[in-house]
Amino acid sequence: MQLGTEQFDQVAMARDMIMRGYINNAVKLETQLSMKTIRTLRSKLTAEGLAKNPRGRQIRQGQSIIKRSEDREDVTILMLAYRNYGGENILMSVDINALNLAYDTYVLVKSEINRHPVDFITINDAYGLAQELRSDDAMFEQCASCDLEYFISIRQECSTKCPFCAGPSHAIAPAESVVA
Ligand SMILES: [Zn+2]
Repeated sequence: MQLGTEQFDQVAMARDMIMRGYINNAVKLETQLSMKTIRTLRSKLTAEGLAKNPRGRQIRQGQSIIKRSEDREDVTILMLAYRNYGGENILMSVDINALNLAYDTYVLVKSEINRHPVDFITINDAYGLAQELRSDDAMFEQCASCDLEYFISIRQECSTKCPFCAGPSHAIAPAESVVA
């Protein structure tokens, strides 16, 4: 296989993305490599124990990711970190390096809070939200009450109010039975 410099960079990026758990669709969108090349790379990396098959194949959108108030806090931590690393350019294009750094920060913060580790947003969810931000389908709002910024997706079906102000006194108690 002969590779030009540009293609070499793309392969290096694809390799990095696969090892971080990005699905093939995301790798293809960011590297422009063929699906065949990406699948070959993934099977090599998987054989070497450097990659796992990610759950799911589709890039989810805000409406599937942001469902509960905890999710609203999580996406805000993640996406504010993303903007911090990527700057205003993230409104024009997805910045994978900034997204990776933001994801690491999010995982670290979340691990320190030590809350339901199974509920972590995945790197592919982070990618979906970054795409929405780039496409103006998501944005940052500033809370008039506490002055904090928070992330909202125009597709999210739960409340778009500030996740930090909505304390328990404002929450509607779900009428569900408790399973022992
Ligand atoms: Zn607030």
